[in-house]
Formats: sequence, structure tokens, C-alpha cells
Amino acid sequence: MAAKESEAFGMRGLDFITSPPEDRLFPASGIPPRAAANAVRAEVVLDHDPDRNLATFVTTWMEPEAREVIMENLHRNYIDHAEYPQTAEVEKRCLRMIHNLFNGPGEPVAPGARCAGSSEAVMLGALAMKWRWRAAREKAGKDTTKPNLVYGKDAHVVWDKFCRYFDVEPRAIDLPEGKFVIGPDEVEGQVDENTIGVVAIVGTTFTGECDDVEGIAKFLDQYEEKEGHDVPMHIDGASGGFVFPFSSPDFAWDFRIERVKSINASGHKFGMTYPGLGWLIFRDDDQLPEDLVFYEDYLGQRDATFTLNFSTGSSMLLAQYFLFLRLGREGYTAMIGAMDKNAEVLRQKVRNAEFLEIAGSGEMLPLVIAKVTDDSPFTGADLVGELARRRAWVVPAYHLPPGNDSIEVMRILVKINQTRELVDKLASDIDDSIAHLTEHGPAPGPKRPHTGHGY
Ligand SMILES: *Cc1c(COP(=O)(O)O)cnc(C)c1O
Repeated sequence: MAAKESEAFGMRGLDFITSPPEDRLFPASGIPPRAAANAVRAEVVLDHDPDRNLATFVTTWMEPEAREVIMENLHRNYIDHAEYPQTAEVEKRCLRMIHNLFNGPGEPVAPGARCAGSSEAVMLGALAMKWRWRAAREKAGKDTTKPNLVYGKDAHVVWDKFCRYFDVEPRAIDLPEGKFVIGPDEVEGQVDENTIGVVAIVGTTFTGECDDVEGIAKFLDQYEEKEGHDVPMHIDGASGGFVFPFSSPDFAWDFRIERVKSINASGHKFGMTYPGLGWLIFRDDDQLPEDLVFYEDYLGQRDATFTLNFSTGSSMLLAQYFLFLRLGREGYTAMIGAMDKNAEVLRQKVRNAEFLEIAGSGEMLPLVIAKVTDDSPFTGADLVGELARRRAWVVPAYHLPPGNDSIEVMRILVKINQTRELVDKLASDIDDSIAHLTEHGPAPGPKRPHTGHGY
């Protein structure tokens, strides 16, 4: 621009208001820090408001003290164990605490790994399964070229990614009609001597329900008795890992089941930190093949790493430790209990709404799965479009995986910042939207962009 406006204000910092932003060429010169910050803010203003993002499992609210811990430690690189040994110790403490929370046996020193999220945890956990399978096959003098992994199509995309990136045949099972999770009947016939493991999801992204961990484990016990192949289970507890220990302590989905050898959970979902933290937890020390661990002399100390990523921030790890101390079992139980209570209120309101019904059953995450009835004059996509138009609610509408792909559902997360006030407002906006759609039909023009279910 035009030096003129700038000169009128006696500063260059107004340029960003009157000129389009740089979006391709590396900027030739700089601008004052406030102007740069404002330019960045002007971009994110166009995003959805995280507080009204009912699509995400990931934490959108933390206490001021937690945010202080995060801000105070942004300059610490987590991987520098030699420089920040106490941060490394905090990682081990958190691993042991989660191992204890998941009813792990014995007293392993550091049973797992801190990761960037559940996705990295899944890659590492599945690699450990692949390595253990291969070692056993090599020992027995058997072929090691055709590993496969068994899971349902209710699994997160990360499992398909693992299989493609690390050369494993994906045995992704279709879900039976009218069922949104898998059990022993689905797994039967898929498992053989080349199966590196069976994955069960505890809290699926599609409906928040759980695969039948106990049933699948029993089937694998019988399978081992008959065929002599010991097939381990991995639990994808990305969401459920920090929900069910508190909401349903008697629900056995974890290391209480002997066959469960590893579990991933997202610290940044119901572990309640902001994004950037996942956990891989092993049943015991035997689950981690030694040759997946890299030892090196780095900055003067011998260090062991079992990660895909190297440098990353320490803040979220420290924030997780903050939360474990701050909340304890009692606090997490109260927080998850509050979410479940508000979810139940919303569920009841959705049940009472015209043309809506509830899907899903059994142990559930704190969320509501709604679907329009067969005689509805509008679709789920129409309804979420109307909700966005009314009060900028972000609710995803999507089709269920193969086997049930004709069913469209809406998923509404009820996290800790979804207070009763907001639940009531959302419910009345749902009613108003339905009344509007029934009378006037769906709004013309483009539908709002599809919001994925996978996070
Ligand atoms: C969110 C999720 C993942 C991926 O986890 P990130 O922490 O986002 O990497 C994997 N599996 C399930 C079941 C999930 O809900």
C-alpha cells in the first residue's frame, strides 16, 4: 500500500488493514510485532470458535493455572533429556500413573512412551506388535513376509495409515448391519498365524461406543488353545482411556484382561490437556522389543529414545502432570461425571425433539449421537447447517462406515466447557432449527463444508 495511510498515522503498522496479506513470496522486510500479531489474529478470526466446536474430542478449555504452566515452559525441548532430566522423570511418572490407572500388573519403570498424540502412539505400539510377531516367527523358522493386522471399520484412519506406511496387510472388517462396533463373531475367520495383533476400539470416533474387548479376548484364548498362535490385543483408547476408568471403574477393557498387551490414549482428549500429547502404555517391559529403542550419545549423555518424532515441546507433558496432581482420580471422576450428566440431559432433549432419535448403546463416551428419523423432511446435513447459521454451533454430520453407510448421524461432544446453560441453548436451537426446516425446507445454496468425525 500506499505509504499515505501509514504516514497519516505516523506508523507502518496499519498496512495489514489495507493490503492483502503475503501468501506466497517470502516477505522482503518485516513489520512491527503488534502488526504481525494482528495480521495473524485476522486470519484465525475466520476459523470456527473452539468453544462452539462440538465436533472435536480434543480439549478446548484448561484452567488458568494449567495455562500458566504451559506458557512458562514453551522454551523447553522435551527430547533434551540430558539438559532437562527432571522433565524426563515427569514423563516416567506419568507413564507409571497411567499404567496404574489402566490396572497394569507389576511395577515397570517406564512402561511406554509419551507421544505427539494417539497417532504416534498407535504407530509405535503397532510396530512393537510387528517386531514381536517377526521375532517369534524367525525363532520358529517361519515365513515373515506377510504380516496382517485385524480391526473393525469402526477404527480411526490412523490404523489404515499404519498398515500402509509399515507394510502390513490391513484386515479391516465390515460392521454388521445395525451394529457400529465389532465383537468375537466379526474377528473369527480373520485371524491366522500371520496376525500381528487384533485392535479393539474403546470409544469409537463414529458413535463413542466400544468394541467387545472381553469377547474378542475370550475368542483369542480359544483360538490359541486350538491353533497354538498367541495373538496379542492392542486397545485404542484414544478417547475412552481417560473416560471409562472414571465413569465405569468396573468395566474391564484394559490390562485386567491378560491378552491386552498395549493401550494408546490421547492426553489431549479426555486426559484434558491442549493438543500435542498422546500416550502408549505397555502391559510390561517384555512388550517393547529392544531393537526399537535407539541408544546414542547425545550432548554428552547416553540416551535411549523410542519415538518417531525428535524435538517437541515439554509444555503438554508438564500440563498432564499438573492435571494428574490437580485432579487425581476424584477430580477426573467428577469432571467426567459432569460431562456424562450434561450429555444425558442433551440425549433426553434430542429424544424428545421431532424427527430425531438417538443411536448407540452400552458404555459410551460423553457425547450424543443423533440421527433423523426415516420420515424426516430434512437430512442431518440440513440440520447441522441450520445450527451453524443460528448460533455458529459446529456439529458434524457424517455417514457410518461400510456395513452401515446408508446411516447418517450427527455427533455432539459434551466436554467440560459445554455447561448446562450451553446444553439448554443448543437443545432449544435444535428445536427451532427443526421447526424452521419443517416449515421452510432446507436453505438453498451450498451446504456448509463437511466436518470430519476423525478427531
Ligand atoms: C482421536 C483418535 C485417534 C487419533 O488420535 P490423535 O491423538 O488425534 O492422534 C485414534 N483413534 C481413535 C479411536 C481416536 O478417537
